Amino acid sequence: MTHPSRKIWRDGEFIQWEQATVHVLSQSLQRGTLAFDYMSVHQTSRGLAVYRLRDHVARLVTSCEITGLELGYSAEELIDACIATVLENPGARFVKISALVPSVEVELVPQDPRVSVLIAAYDVMADVVEPHLRAGHRPLHEAPLVSLKVERHFSNRREDIIPPQAKVAANYTSPMMAKLRARAEGYDDVLLLNEQHLVAEAPTSNIFIVNASGALLTPPSDKVLLGITRDSIMELARAEGLECTEQNITEADLHAATEAFLTNTSVGVWPVIRIDETRYSGGQAGLVTVRLRDRHRAICRGNDPEFDHWLYYVGE
Ligand code: PMP
Repeated sequence: MTHPSRKIWRDGEFIQWEQATVHVLSQSLQRGTLAFDYMSVHQTSRGLAVYRLRDHVARLVTSCEITGLELGYSAEELIDACIATVLENPGARFVKISALVPSVEVELVPQDPRVSVLIAAYDVMADVVEPHLRAGHRPLHEAPLVSLKVERHFSNRREDIIPPQAKVAANYTSPMMAKLRARAEGYDDVLLLNEQHLVAEAPTSNIFIVNASGALLTPPSDKVLLGITRDSIMELARAEGLECTEQNITEADLHAATEAFLTNTSVGVWPVIRIDETRYSGGQAGLVTVRLRDRHRAICRGNDPEFDHWLYYVGE
């Protein structure tokens, strides 16, 4: 796929979209060691803004530390590079930053551990999804509501295998296998459990439920990827006067809940209408979900002074 207008930042310079390739035998491709992060770009009345840029870059640094990738850039340098990439690519709605070992290696531990950083700023729909749309496949993140199947075979990422806090390519293989099977059964996505059979997260989203007393619950931070949207929603819920706690969630809690929603960068707050046989809010988004979703959207559009500090304005 060619995108003549899109430029990708690679180690300090811009290259053409189609030049951003790695060798098939590169260490990161063969061993799944690519660490990445993904953030959203918003058009506001003060110009373009990246949502919680500093926090996303900090998470990339953590993912690299956990994985043992030695980044040759400071967080400040990466922030500047992200901004430059957004400015270089008009119409971009998302930024993906990838850190990988490009060298061809025979051994597990690379002899040449140099890490290459690539940053792409693009419109996922126009630049990536369009050919799939033509083939009739709508991307899941375009769906307004979502149904989940509790995954009973594959556990969530585990701290003693690849910790869930590392956003690293290898961590997505078993969730992908799980999701493939769930989709064949008519569900949109899976809900992964941890090794104690407690609720953890979806493959690329965190989960929240609302219990019968109207309190929000989300699984504890040691068991999940520390989603930036998850963090925002916890703070936002408290600002809205809602009780919100990180605590273990059992399957029974799921089925007793009045509402459930996922959070991630692509969609923000994503109403869940069904988990296994339990249906929520008559197949509609629940009231608490809608309240948080709408406030979060307003923040992203630059329409909420209280949380304006979450926007990193590109031109200022
Ligand atoms: N969990 C996992 C495993 C993910 O890949 C993602 C997507 N980054 C999330 C949760 C949600 O994180 P965020 O809100 O930062 O997009």
